[in-house]
Amino acid sequence: GSGGSGKGPVICSPVCGNPYAGLVSHLRATWLSGKTRPMEYRVAQLEALGRFLDEKKQDILEATALDMGKPSFEAYFTEILLCKNELNDTLNNLCHWMKDEHVDKNLVTQLDSAFIRKDPYGVVLIIAPWNYPIHLFLVPLIGAIAAGNCVVVKPSETTKNTERLVAEMLTCYLDNDCFAVVTAGVQETTRLLENKFDYIFFTGSPSVGRIVMTAAAKHLTPVTLELGGKNPCYVSDTCDVQNVARRVAWGRFFNAGQTCIAPDYVLCSVEMQEKLMPALREAITEFFGSNPRESPDFGRIVGDKQFRRIRALLCSGRVAIGGQTDEKERYIAPTVLADVLPSDPAMQEEIFGPILPIVVVANMDEAIDFINARPRPLAIYAFSCDSKVVNQVLERTSSGGFCGNDTLMHVTLTSLPFGGIGNSGLGKYHGKFTFDTFTHHRGCLHRNMGLEALNALRYPPYSQQKLGL
Ligand code: NAD
Repeated sequence: GSGGSGKGPVICSPVCGNPYAGLVSHLRATWLSGKTRPMEYRVAQLEALGRFLDEKKQDILEATALDMGKPSFEAYFTEILLCKNELNDTLNNLCHWMKDEHVDKNLVTQLDSAFIRKDPYGVVLIIAPWNYPIHLFLVPLIGAIAAGNCVVVKPSETTKNTERLVAEMLTCYLDNDCFAVVTAGVQETTRLLENKFDYIFFTGSPSVGRIVMTAAAKHLTPVTLELGGKNPCYVSDTCDVQNVARRVAWGRFFNAGQTCIAPDYVLCSVEMQEKLMPALREAITEFFGSNPRESPDFGRIVGDKQFRRIRALLCSGRVAIGGQTDEKERYIAPTVLADVLPSDPAMQEEIFGPILPIVVVANMDEAIDFINARPRPLAIYAFSCDSKVVNQVLERTSSGGFCGNDTLMHVTLTSLPFGGIGNSGLGKYHGKFTFDTFTHHRGCLHRNMGLEALNALRYPPYSQQKLGL
């Protein structure tokens, strides 16, 4: 009943019978009890996360290898090292981040206390994708715990081995009154999202981002959306071609191309395309040998659906390097496509696989126009020996993040905000930005009870004199 029908009060809320209502209300009760507020509690839980990473390192490497052939170096670097980096940064600074921030006062409030209280939001939900299946829920979780929240973590159901590991093992390290892992596919996640959360942190595709934001809007729940898109990589005519080729190939083929900030396509002149091709071939051979399929350092596509989608993009332009596939192994060779047209399939969607199209443009101005005619990406890359060129691309475009003369590396600094803009998302995290994301900045004024005479001025009855007129 929607009320007003005269049949008595509405007892049943829309989430009545929701399979997750009990869990969420349990977390809410714990949150209200204040258990997560003391700094010592937060530190103890964060240290437990550190022990999880240390003690389950081998299990994490094995699960991600089973799920997507993730090379152990890549898994170690992204799923463990970068997480430890965030954890250490948070543990080192939490005491400072948590403190009330005292702010400027005006004449009337000179004897009062004006400060920003760093309040936790309450019960928050973190939804993660499969491409870095530990990192992408753990880094937000670090900030959510640090800020004093209770948390529901929903890892991706696509990477089954990692999902199971998280559900079985992470929960042994954390206080289950405050932190829960929910394993859920699309249907269950839809039900989960019917519940009222105080904050939702979502990482995934723009289309699911819209679904999550719509569900959040029903409860006016604030969101962070970490989404994807096509990240352009402009290579100017003046650059060290060998270095550019290595840095671009590394960013594109890391994790078999399944990285949200991977350079999605190259924009360069026809002359640069000519020079880049042998250099890219050399870099690929240097990294993965003459048969990348046998390299322990080159991953696989996560699933059959994704494999077929990526394989269908190979008909764009002309295959200049690679192009081999094997459906059984879900293997797609590191591939470079030359002379790709903006109308080709590879240019219609985020590639999210080991394929690098090169789109020829006349010059930097045309590259900038090309970028600005499309949705705003998560990252833009620009290579040039002339720093004026790099700065021009930076100044005349818009994107979540930017890296000049390299790819991916900006993600390694906890001092930089990480996040999208427009179609690539909203909000930011990493380091203190994660703590701030999960913190309500509560504006507080604590007045002195005395000096009442000073207040007479603002009380009625009013008069022209009181305004000083
Ligand atoms: P996805 O959007 O399909 O799934 C992400 C999460 O949402 C999963 O946990 C999934 O279970 C859940 N989900 C899927 N459909 C849902 C629905 N209808 N309702 C509710 N929940 C639903 O994304 P993916 O395929 O797992 O990941 C790839 C995408 O993520 C790419 O677009 C990539 O660019 C993006 N990504 C972004 C970042 C970033 O930091 N910005 C990082 C990694 C990946």
